[in-house]
Amino acid sequence: MPLHIIVGAQWGDEGKGRITDLLSADAVAVARFSGGDNAGHTVTVDAPGGPQIFKLHLLPSGLVHPHVVGVLGHGMVVNPSRLLAEMDRLRASGASVTPERVKLSAAAHLITPAHVALDQADEAARSAPSAGGKIGTTGRGIGPAYTDKTARRGLRAELMLDPARLGDRVLEHVRAANLTLERIYARPPLDAAAVAAEYTSYARALAPYLAETSLYLHGQLRAGAAVLAEGAQGTLLDLNTGTYPFVTSSSPTSGGAFVGLGLGPQFAGRIIGVTKVFQTRVGEGPFPTEAFGPEAERLRGTGANPWDEFGTTTGRPRRCGWLDLVLLRYAIRVNGITELVLTKLDVLAGLEQVRLCTGYEAGDQRYEELPWGPADLAPFRPIYESMPGWAEDSSGARTLADLPAQARCYVRRIEALTGVPVSLISVGPERSQIVPAR
Ligand code: GDP
Repeated sequence: MPLHIIVGAQWGDEGKGRITDLLSADAVAVARFSGGDNAGHTVTVDAPGGPQIFKLHLLPSGLVHPHVVGVLGHGMVVNPSRLLAEMDRLRASGASVTPERVKLSAAAHLITPAHVALDQADEAARSAPSAGGKIGTTGRGIGPAYTDKTARRGLRAELMLDPARLGDRVLEHVRAANLTLERIYARPPLDAAAVAAEYTSYARALAPYLAETSLYLHGQLRAGAAVLAEGAQGTLLDLNTGTYPFVTSSSPTSGGAFVGLGLGPQFAGRIIGVTKVFQTRVGEGPFPTEAFGPEAERLRGTGANPWDEFGTTTGRPRRCGWLDLVLLRYAIRVNGITELVLTKLDVLAGLEQVRLCTGYEAGDQRYEELPWGPADLAPFRPIYESMPGWAEDSSGARTLADLPAQARCYVRRIEALTGVPVSLISVGPERSQIVPAR
């Protein structure tokens, strides 16, 4: 049975959480394969007392379903203190959080306060005028933890099987990081012994959740179960395929799912690319279709709705603009996306005109594909196609026929210009607010 992979086709925040939640109904396990608590996924579940909102950063969104096993895969970097806090929050909302339900890969890497301090010091140093500018990181220690991983001095989760050994390794790691903090960044050192003691206690709490998750997932797939791979961030933030250097330190693309879960591609099923019907980006970096002024404010919302464009993890206002089909075609190519899920169609209601960026121009040349990938987008100006908007609120639509004719045309135009079918259209954050596109 297949491994269905859900990836963000943009710069993250596409609404992958609610789509993962929807598809989890038929999955035995849902596995995160990259990133850490820099992700923020929101799932809204209809409940008798009103909608219940789950905000998940590390745990897979599928865990909201009682039958699902949530896996934190090899490719993740995990801050144990945040993981334990998130487990407590999920438990408080009535979910069962046990080692049978949550499996943490022994090969995932741990984030420490030293990684967080290094991340924040590095980001502050980059803001100096001579230093090339900020990346816009979340300051959660993600980058430095991956740096330690690639430098082969990282702290793997398996160390938690031996709390005393983990304590020794953490002591050594914080002392080394202190040298960098003090000498390079002129920042105060951390109390290495205190951090080591803290990690020894996390090890005791988390050791029961450790597992050989590749073996577990392989077993499930071999036995015929469906597994969902849940991407965090998005294709344009991928370390290899994104808008480098304004990227994250891992691979949130479909290829990253295999590496990050320790599985081979023979299990690949649907490769689902989730994209908003417009474009947003949080943090720094190029954004050709970025809108400004009232147009951007209209797409962003005021912050009054939970889905308005302010970061789940950081609260930062997101930059907003029109859907960029050059970048979407690129995301389809590098992930092998087999179907698109469109989110936030409801947000476009009431606009007189909607626009799609169908190509770029630079000088007297036109481009439908990026000649050198997305790292340097500065030379390109978007070419737009405008279509009539629609006044009707589409949040109550449940079938294609319920959508205004102009909205259907907009969806079909996206399909025509990408060559990939749209399978689902999301018209609101709640489970029921979804329209099959056929
Ligand atoms: P993720 O990181 O890709 O899971 O995305 P986020 O959860 O950060 O952001 C998506 C936000 O939009 C959340 O608040 C969702 O509840 C909300 N959302 C998802 N799909 C829709 C939709 O179709 N319409 C509206 N209005 N909100 C949506």
